[in-house]
Amino acid sequence: MINKVYKFGGASVKDANAVRNLKNILEKEDRSDLLLVISAMGKTTNAIEKALADFRANNGHLEISAISEIIEYHENIMTELFDGNTSHPIFETMTNLFLDLYLNLQETGFDYDYQYDNTVSFGEMLSTTLISAYLNECGIKNELLDAREYIITDHNFRAANPEWDDCRLRIDKLNEEHKGTMYITQGFIASSTSPKTTTTLGREGSDFTAAIFANCLDAKELTIWKDVDGLRNADPKRFPNTQKIEHLSYFEAIELTFYGASIIHPNTLKPLQNKNIPLKVRSFIDTNLKPSVIDGTEDYIKYVPSFIVKEKQTLMSITARDYSFMNEHNRALIFNIMDELNIHANMTQVSALVLSICFDENEKKRLQLTEALSQAFKVKYNDGLQLFTIRHYQEGLEKDFVKDRKIYVEQRSRSTYQIVLSY
Ligand code: ASP
Ligand code: MG
Repeated sequence: MINKVYKFGGASVKDANAVRNLKNILEKEDRSDLLLVISAMGKTTNAIEKALADFRANNGHLEISAISEIIEYHENIMTELFDGNTSHPIFETMTNLFLDLYLNLQETGFDYDYQYDNTVSFGEMLSTTLISAYLNECGIKNELLDAREYIITDHNFRAANPEWDDCRLRIDKLNEEHKGTMYITQGFIASSTSPKTTTTLGREGSDFTAAIFANCLDAKELTIWKDVDGLRNADPKRFPNTQKIEHLSYFEAIELTFYGASIIHPNTLKPLQNKNIPLKVRSFIDTNLKPSVIDGTEDYIKYVPSFIVKEKQTLMSITARDYSFMNEHNRALIFNIMDELNIHANMTQVSALVLSICFDENEKKRLQLTEALSQAFKVKYNDGLQLFTIRHYQEGLEKDFVKDRKIYVEQRSRSTYQIVLSY
């Protein structure tokens, strides 16, 4: 039985030293009931995204040198980890993966989102293949699993939704067959059936992968290993004097991640809450630091105010052409279309005639939405905005952040204060 799921993100495996650090961490752990979920190394996903854009701009006609940075980056890590022993089979395995990536990048005749998932998924395949071989070489025995055999989704490329029953069936079987060897698998990537094709769960989706595995395994804990000491009440890169949050309820954590606290992927918590599996956020740099724990606590925890900034927001204002009220009927129409287009409102506000919706910038989706609404509604929008949220708001806390910037929408409930503003 597998009881523990550990997730290691891109930063934790970004170079040879980082992978050695991972090995050191694992050496001290009981690995007999452990499944590791690993992301692409460092910024590989971004690099593949960029290569894909180049290939598409050239209708697939680019030399393999167009991806040489991605190849060299992995080769350097591999050479260092395997002491330049190029006769080790991993060198051939990785070369085949590089070639496969190249072939996939050339297939620009397909729908963009389809090709996107097929190519960016190589980031995770490269990292897990290399790390699994290295750990086995060091005596940390493990079995590499293809996550696409276990995480089954719909065909919604780039933000696929799990088919939970399928996932559960397959992961159940894995659990039954488990004989005590640590498993390693990829975050982020999945597959849809009939027709079988690679999908992804959306950027930063490896946390979600780990949560799906934890849920289906009925695991006892999920640990996400980070380069920070746990959860904080704001992003230290943006705000001075942040405070560590040692203990958090699922409810509160979901509220924070929903508004953009990027430390954990927002979809991660529900599958854990549903099975009451605690989530630990722990430092891979200093393993002696106490992790932050998110669980089903009912205890009263006195939360400090938390500050969350979500970048690249579109604010759309929608009014009925015939001047009818922005009533439930009109709102239902609009929200149904948004649901079909998979556009997720980060904030909404209604007046007599206007519905304002704030969502993540995405030109394609904005145009689709405008088109679908155009018969009955007039639409205006602004791009390049920020959504700023304060949980456990106290009067005046927003002042330093807002300064003299233009506020587009302001909203306040008992515990949450939000504004949409320009940069
Ligand atoms: N590699 C993917 C990304 O960079 C998934 C992840 O890291 O969670 O978005
Ligand atoms: Mg990541």
